[in-house]
Amino acid sequence: MQSFETLLNESAQAHGHLCPGQVVGVRMAILGCRLIGLSVPLGKDNLKKLIVYVEMDRCTADAVAHVTGVRLGRRSLKFMDYGIMAATFVNLDSGQAFRIISTEDSRDLASVYVPDISEKGNRQREAYKRMPDSVLFKVQKVHVKLNEYDLPGPTRCKSVCSRCGQVVRDRREVIVDDKPVCRPCSQQSYFDHAREVCWPGMNWSPQLEGDNSPGEASVKLHPEEILREHHNINDSRKRDCLDYKN
Ligand SMILES: [Zn+2]
Ligand SMILES: [Zn+2]
Repeated sequence: MQSFETLLNESAQAHGHLCPGQVVGVRMAILGCRLIGLSVPLGKDNLKKLIVYVEMDRCTADAVAHVTGVRLGRRSLKFMDYGIMAATFVNLDSGQAFRIISTEDSRDLASVYVPDISEKGNRQREAYKRMPDSVLFKVQKVHVKLNEYDLPGPTRCKSVCSRCGQVVRDRREVIVDDKPVCRPCSQQSYFDHAREVCWPGMNWSPQLEGDNSPGEASVKLHPEEILREHHNINDSRKRDCLDYKN
């Protein structure tokens, strides 16, 4: 296992600063992995066995993800927006799962562990390095309700929203009147008043190195076909969409 200090420094570098949350997150990751029979840093094979649920979008979550190597894009990191300083570590091989919760005691006791530091942030950071796991954390053994649609790997199923036509992956649709509906259409959404727009420069695409046809996507279509496709898409957008200024 890499030393705690090395893990912490690397995590702080990736996160952007060395804060108390980094210390808590690195220790959370070490403990969580240890409880489910893994050790950090995880090799490629062990990484495939791990899923982590984080319950806060704060500094600690970055440290947990960095030290374990779980990623949102690989479906090994799950974000639950609970506002709780906790994370659950699941071993997919054994089914073992432990939820680790950062204690309020650890905040209250920071001055006991480092009485000589008065500035709050520094005091917490140094205290969290020194406290035993039992002061820093509460641990729960839990059963995680994972189904096949939550697992890493390719998309297992797609459905089409019966209201807006959007493709919805991995059973995230809801059923309304026996029909699949995407969550935005079913009003379970973080936004409202969605209206599709046309925008200035909407035919832009990056110029690729060694590609002499600026602005055209590098698809193997005849240039006239590309232009016709652009016109078709733009025409239908202009019919159906708002100008972006509105
Ligand atoms: Zn931070
Ligand atoms: Zn929809």
